[in-house]
Order: sequence, then C-alpha cells, then structure tokens
Amino acid sequence: MDVHSYCVHCQKDASHITPMTQVDAQGQRCLRYLCQQCNLQSEHLPVRPLKPCPVPQAVLQVNGFDPQERVLTRELSREDFDYWLGKLPARKASGADLIT
Ligand SMILES: [Zn+2]
Repeated sequence: MDVHSYCVHCQKDASHITPMTQVDAQGQRCLRYLCQQCNLQSEHLPVRPLKPCPVPQAVLQVNGFDPQERVLTRELSREDFDYWLGKLPARKASGADLIT
C-alpha cells in the first residue's frame, strides 16, 4: 500500500486504511483494503500525486542534482543571507567557499 493512498469514499489517508486478506468464491486468497473511518472495503486504492519538486527544472538540468549538496531554489535576499550567516557557529574558520 502506497503511503499516498487514500479512501475513495471518505478521502482519509493511508493511516486509516488496513490491508487485509479475503478468500474469494474460488477459494483464492486476495488482498483487500478496509477503511477504518467509513468501513468501505476496496480492491484497489487511489493514490494522490506527489507534490511538485521544490527544485526548479532549470536548476536540475543545468547542474544535475546531488541530494548531498544544498541548492538555492529561489533568489536569496540580503536579509535571508544575513539570517543564515548568523546561524553559523561563531569562531569557526570558513570552508572552501569562504562563507560556510
Ligand atoms: Zn473511508
């Protein structure tokens, strides 16, 4: 069951749905999903789409994407820069970028 699954009847998310088995008329065991909110039993659950990627497509295409590296996804204002600069530990030598 996908974590983005939801009940088609009451729209509750996957945390309210319990997978269970059921024996059909041919004696075959099959998987069903029971919504604990509305008691609807389903063979399949719809899945909500993922949220859009916060990294703009242009950034991904130009630089590739390394999840270990931080990427600016929008313009950084001077106030934001000063705020994050103030969050850095004091009395620490800067790194290769001369900032962090
Ligand atoms: Zn439901």
